[in-house]
Amino acid sequence: MSVTNDLLNTVLRHAGQEVSRKEFLNLAGRGLAASVAAGTLAACQDKPAASATTAATTPTTGTPAAQVDASTVYAAPGGPQVPSSEAVSPPAKVPAAADQPIELEAWKSAVDPKSPPTPTPLPPDQRVGYALVGLGHLTLEELLPAFGACKKSKPVALVSGSPEKLSKVAKQYGIKPTSCYSYADYDKLKDNPEVQAIYIVLPNSMHAEYVIRGAKTGKHILCEKPMANSVRECELMIAACKEAKVKLMIAYRIQYEPYNRLVRDMVRDQKFGKVKYIQAQNSQSSANVDHWRHKKALAGGGALPDIGLYCLNTSRFLLGTEPTEVFGYMHSTPGNPLFKEVEEMMSWQMRFPDGVLVSAITHYDTHDSRFYRVNAERGWLHLDNGYAYRGQQLQTSHAEGPAKMQNQITIGANNQFAAEMDHFSACILENKQPHTPGEEGLQDQRIMEAIYQSAREGRPVKLPPVSGTDVFRGPEPKLG
Ligand code: NAD
Repeated sequence: MSVTNDLLNTVLRHAGQEVSRKEFLNLAGRGLAASVAAGTLAACQDKPAASATTAATTPTTGTPAAQVDASTVYAAPGGPQVPSSEAVSPPAKVPAAADQPIELEAWKSAVDPKSPPTPTPLPPDQRVGYALVGLGHLTLEELLPAFGACKKSKPVALVSGSPEKLSKVAKQYGIKPTSCYSYADYDKLKDNPEVQAIYIVLPNSMHAEYVIRGAKTGKHILCEKPMANSVRECELMIAACKEAKVKLMIAYRIQYEPYNRLVRDMVRDQKFGKVKYIQAQNSQSSANVDHWRHKKALAGGGALPDIGLYCLNTSRFLLGTEPTEVFGYMHSTPGNPLFKEVEEMMSWQMRFPDGVLVSAITHYDTHDSRFYRVNAERGWLHLDNGYAYRGQQLQTSHAEGPAKMQNQITIGANNQFAAEMDHFSACILENKQPHTPGEEGLQDQRIMEAIYQSAREGRPVKLPPVSGTDVFRGPEPKLG
């Protein structure tokens, strides 16, 4: 190390700040210090150095710098000399199939977490083209940016009531002006061969109409949650897509998110024994009384269908079974105009088979809070930011002898929207049923209607029994 430091000091003294101490040590650790020393010294050879003799010994090989091959120095015509290395490609496996990842030369030991496979993006001309309907918060803030992380999906058309937004967003994302449509022209998507899928990102009350009209264009449909405002609407949407022979998927991004999927696997594998109950909360604060989320006709309800739905759907996803009974308790602060039409708070319980209980709460007038805890016989799993777009934090607790073990588990995060869209694209490309089809949205709607009924009537409401596991879901998605 002292030889390294001597060399470093000398080099830095001569070279000004051409190579930082940190960079040099990093290079030295990779056996490249000789090149750095040779290049830097060559660059400043007209400056006499007091300790040049010391500097002329490399830390890794002991080879005098003067003997380092001149080919390890790159001299730009008329420019400075910099260290150089022979450009080579280390051994790698490069499968011809587009969905098989390139395997690079390994260098990490098994002591550290394994890197994920290299991404396998499809060439752009093979990706599924999406028309995004509605250019509001979700589309502009999350969905369009998420296409950058997609491997099978690309935006090719936009539908909006605002010509200004259409023009600006189309330029930002490289969408042709001829692929921008008003709501009146929505049905003309039928004639756009670049569009294979329509993504409905409109207020909840508009989902049914736009899914049914969209199905008639012959395009596959991805629809935001909640699927619609009533069971009847959901049934009509499913029927329309069946009749048109197009796929229908509800955008339950959580079911494509790695932390939630890991918890699901631990629950199903009984990592800490049988699950006994789940506590779930999804709350946020809203303030715009004119927004559609506060109009019953547009939103269908308040906190429950908008954000409480995550507690409901994710609990069903974790357990795989269906609730047999619900009990709801609803509240809206009297006189608050925000909650004149829609509920401010819903607290509810769901009875699942084998006595498993889910206790959930959702609120529109508290600081952002999105988590759940799965309580099992021998331990618990707690997912903070469980329903958030990002920032999931998973903790577990269990006992080992006298010790209470509390672990923080970190895995690779993903862009949930990209994963969800790519899953739908894969279903289209491979002609498979989506993991979260219309039936999954319909079941949530049935349960929400029962929760509202219970809250209104002040009594538990039974649900039709459903036997089996994951009965409303399609096959497991292949993510990654
Ligand atoms: P938003 O209000 O920001 O955007 C809604 C869009 O619909 C706007 O572009 C608006 O111009 C358009 N629109 C057309 N007709 C309208 C009308 N009559 N009233 C109001 N807007 C009208 O809403 P958002 O937050 O983007 O939500 C859109 C949908 O996406 C909702 O169904 C919502 O539940 C869902 N959503 C899902 C997530 C998620 O994480 N999956 C997150 C947010 C929203």
